[in-house]
Amino acid sequence: MSGLIAIVGRPNVGKSALFNRIAGRRIAIVHDMPGVTRDRVSAEVEWGGHAFTLVDTGGIGLLRREKAADVITKAALEQVDLAIEAAHVIILAANVQEGIVPLDQEVADKLRRSGKPVLVAANKVDTQKVEAAALEFTELGFDKVFPVSAIHGEGIVDLMNAATALLPPREILEKAEVDEDVFEGTPEVEGKTKSELKGPLKLAIVGRPNVGKSSIINALTQSERVIVSPIPGTTRDAVDVPFEVEADGIRQSYLLIDTAGLRKSRRVDDSVEFYSVKRTEDSIARADICVLVLDAEAGITEQDKKVADKIVEERRACIVVVNKWDLVEESVRESREQEIERRDAKTRDRDERKVRRLTTLGEFGQWVQEHLFFLDYAPVIFTSAKSGFHLDRLLEAVRYVADQLQQKVPTSILNRALNDAVENRQPISAAGHRLKFFYATQVRQAPPTFLLFVNRDELFSDPYRKYLAGELRKAFGYEGCPIILVPKPRP
Ligand code: GDP
Repeated sequence: MSGLIAIVGRPNVGKSALFNRIAGRRIAIVHDMPGVTRDRVSAEVEWGGHAFTLVDTGGIGLLRREKAADVITKAALEQVDLAIEAAHVIILAANVQEGIVPLDQEVADKLRRSGKPVLVAANKVDTQKVEAAALEFTELGFDKVFPVSAIHGEGIVDLMNAATALLPPREILEKAEVDEDVFEGTPEVEGKTKSELKGPLKLAIVGRPNVGKSSIINALTQSERVIVSPIPGTTRDAVDVPFEVEADGIRQSYLLIDTAGLRKSRRVDDSVEFYSVKRTEDSIARADICVLVLDAEAGITEQDKKVADKIVEERRACIVVVNKWDLVEESVRESREQEIERRDAKTRDRDERKVRRLTTLGEFGQWVQEHLFFLDYAPVIFTSAKSGFHLDRLLEAVRYVADQLQQKVPTSILNRALNDAVENRQPISAAGHRLKFFYATQVRQAPPTFLLFVNRDELFSDPYRKYLAGELRKAFGYEGCPIILVPKPRP
């Protein structure tokens, strides 16, 4: 268990900007398709040696509700309850440019009564003048007021140093860890519940022969951002190659598994084919994240689908890479060159030109997702190992998905999201019985596995499972990860 810092405050004070600023890593959309954006509400963050979960309670429950004034007030106050219940430290965000409004007061009153440590982030401090105005916020009744600008990054260091200093020491948090032995005997959730991701994440680059797997690995290992650890012997022959990716000054370790299997295969006769399939299956089973490589020019073949099936069956996190994009671009260019040129001549706007190109990516991406519909949780990105196109995005996608896999959703936040989902769409009753949910808890991180205590597990239908998984995805992201829901009758 790690500490939990929650950001609360009424809408539009800049909570999500603050969240993104503190979480540091860009809350990126890895899909190479326009229009796929999601807000996340929780992130694992490390700040000055403290690891904690950061939650933007504002994102919960307001995801789809219409935002009438009374709903906003109610939701804001509910979030405060949630934060009081779950968080060790609370950051109350307020907007300097608007000053204190009655809802700020109401929220502050509730927080004060709770006795939890509260820091006020007086946000949108963009000039000297408003910095003075931030003092006004001491009226909310907390001594710790930090003028910040989430957008420009000012004041964040002071705020977070103070916040992390208030987190309970690690030993206390560890003692508070819930005993999850009750889940033993549930086959789907075997394995460790905590610290299971110690050590580097295992990455497998899989796909049928000739899609460009080795080319991608070669190109990646030459990237400045990738540091392949020197190991005795020749790196190429090693079966598992440790490597690190550096970005934003953070290094992350991975283990690229079974790279020997990727060495340029000799002729593909039947027996080699058999071994290559077997080998692919083994690496999928060993991996935490699978990068499924497809050949853009060849499209999606039966063999690609088989590999994808295996990834789904093994419940692995996945990123779909459509490689050799240069070839498609070339043919697209040939057929559309004239038309595009004609239109480009009219527009000097770079963005507009970019959008024109993205339309093709979008169309293609949609086509891929339709054909691999059973793998719909995987982001699709387009690369060219030959030109280097988007290899940086591949690294970013890996890092992003790795991040999602390490997410541990606090129980109270999870239950809140679950309640909202059930409230928005009740399960259909069958033969006079209706499925009821009592309580949910995350029992595993990779893949994210949630145990749902229900009245009768046989009432948990597939469509409802899909619906709930979708709602959890909306709340917690989990791009690239399968979400496993295990209903269990309450003992
Ligand atoms: P693997 O069997 O999946 O490891 O595939 P390889 O990396 O050996 O690549 C198969 C063939 O495709 C080789 O001839 C590569 O040069 C070529 N290739 C790989 N990636 C690209 C790419 O992005 N664009 C183009 N045009 N060719 C590529």
